[in-house]
Amino acid sequence: MKLVLIGAPAAGKGTQARKLIDKYKLAYISTGDMLREEVSKGTALGLEAKSIMASGALVSDELIIAIVRERIKADDCKNGFILDGFPRTVVQAEKLDELIGSVDKAIYINCPDEALLKRITARQTCPKCGASYNKISVPPKVPDICDVCGEKLTQRKDDTVEAGKARLETFHKQSEPLVDYYKKQNRLFEVDGMIGIDNVSSAIFAELGD
Ligand code: AMP
Repeated sequence: MKLVLIGAPAAGKGTQARKLIDKYKLAYISTGDMLREEVSKGTALGLEAKSIMASGALVSDELIIAIVRERIKADDCKNGFILDGFPRTVVQAEKLDELIGSVDKAIYINCPDEALLKRITARQTCPKCGASYNKISVPPKVPDICDVCGEKLTQRKDDTVEAGKARLETFHKQSEPLVDYYKKQNRLFEVDGMIGIDNVSSAIFAELGD
């Protein structure tokens, strides 16, 4: 199964992806995580991406397509994968179709901007295992400590009000057209991202088949 997750920042893509990979044993591909790793390693690619990411804009289609093209060749992708944060433009979606035929389902987690901005600024992530928390709605058991691996939680550099607003704008301008793109292919499943984490998962599982 080849899945794509679409949604504005903090819509819950990462959270749902974790549940989906557990259930369907798929490889997890987050282009945002891959870029953050390059930034933290200080590679040439990381240096190129750093300021673009901090501003809430998108890195170039060419660059991100090159990364994904290599990643999906890996062995762990043979049984299928979930793409979280890719494609983010119609050009990327067209390229993906060229590379893999077509996706089985594009899952769109839809949330209003006001709620997302609140989630963005309350979000904490684990730099070690990638688990995601929210100080208001999904707090860790011990404040600032990851439930899964005990690491100190951090806030993403682009999870500020200013960058958050820019990222939402980028989503509406550049990524929302993907909804129509996949609708036309009859591959879109849209779910209300405000009904609670478990209800969102149940809706997705029901669509994909238990
Ligand atoms: P994310 O963790 O998915 O929110 O991604 C963080 C940032 O990485 C985004 O705001 C973009 O600057 C960059 N990024 C991630 N995926 C893509 C993509 N598919 N195309 C362009 N830029 C991306």
